[in-house]
Amino acid sequence: MAKLSVDKVDLSGRRVFLRVDFNVPVEGGRVTEDARITAALPTLQHCLNAGAALVLASHLGRPKGKPDPRYSLAPVATRLEELLGQPVPLAPDCVGEEVRNRASALGSGQIVMLENLRFHPEEEANDDGFARELAALADVYVDDAFAAAHRAHASIDAITRHLRPAVAGLLMARELQALSHVVGAAEHPLFAILGGAKVSDKLTLVESLLARVDGLLVGGGMAFTFLASLGHGIGRSLVEPDKVDAARAVVERARSRGIPVRLPVDVVVATGVDDPASARTVAIREIPPDMMGLDIGPTTVAHFKAALGGVRTVVWNGPMGVFEKEGFAAGTLGVARAVSESSAFSVVGGGDTIAAIHRAGVTSRIGYISTAGGAFLEFLEGRELPGVAVLDDA
Ligand code: AMP
Repeated sequence: MAKLSVDKVDLSGRRVFLRVDFNVPVEGGRVTEDARITAALPTLQHCLNAGAALVLASHLGRPKGKPDPRYSLAPVATRLEELLGQPVPLAPDCVGEEVRNRASALGSGQIVMLENLRFHPEEEANDDGFARELAALADVYVDDAFAAAHRAHASIDAITRHLRPAVAGLLMARELQALSHVVGAAEHPLFAILGGAKVSDKLTLVESLLARVDGLLVGGGMAFTFLASLGHGIGRSLVEPDKVDAARAVVERARSRGIPVRLPVDVVVATGVDDPASARTVAIREIPPDMMGLDIGPTTVAHFKAALGGVRTVVWNGPMGVFEKEGFAAGTLGVARAVSESSAFSVVGGGDTIAAIHRAGVTSRIGYISTAGGAFLEFLEGRELPGVAVLDDA
């Protein structure tokens, strides 16, 4: 069911609670990657042009339910101010009397940004009283935080019990439309490339993907649990011993259905992430017991590239190695280039994967880039996202 979007409601003279996902990397008090902010700009501009006042709300990082200056949204407000060219004052909190006063004083076309929602444990607890306080700040609820739509948190779920209409922002609407197309109408053969650190996060995804994909390419830390399940020695590489049996079951199920699951055949090993000088490429059967695999090797990149030949749709989430470190980025950047050069329609999601696409300089050659990671994966699994389910139907 399509959701009502913000461009279909009258916003003139109304106060909009706009839930965004401005959970961006911040270093030394500055935003280092603003893609998630720029992605929400059309919604902000639409609301401001339509004569609304904006109460902006987001989370940032994992402050564990208490105020922590390291997770203040101040750098985000500064960056947004630069992008919008208008003041974006930051309230000292997201609830309480001063915040209520700041919100009710807003005139048409003005903005206030609330401080990090996760400074209160009630946010992640989906607390109804906290949600009611947030709801009291505005007359209309707009959710543009697609990247957080898989979380039933107070500002995403419970708030909609107290604030209607509850509609999708333009980014949310665009993401839903694009990803629905991938789930419902993707051209086959459809291949998925999965990476990232933890297999436990992605096992259910892999299982449900087996019903949709024609091939699976697995890299990153998660590949080692699969390799271990097939009896390979993996040295000190990342592994989740309690998931080895489940990983083996997935590989066997894929095989029985004739779905190829490609795992690394060579890896870059080192004694640790901070010791790139010790790095070297070895075949998968030759991982020394005292070293860890931190990237896929060039032969694996070549295999993955070859596997994409003739594929019509490719979905990618998760880096192939510890790509944040110079010595272990080649595999991820190589896969980014392979995806961009393939004739398949490509869909990528997740902060790390997007960063890799940018670093490889291939952004313009990707079919669709989702701002979401976890929500992207859950959507592809075919799950209904709590943050989407609660919005008004079109
Ligand atoms: P995730 O949040 O599960 O998508 O994982 C992303 C993280 O996985 C990135 O920070 C990578 O540095 C990390 N990663 C990727 N490959 C490996 C690996 N082989 N060993 C350890 N960490 C890895």
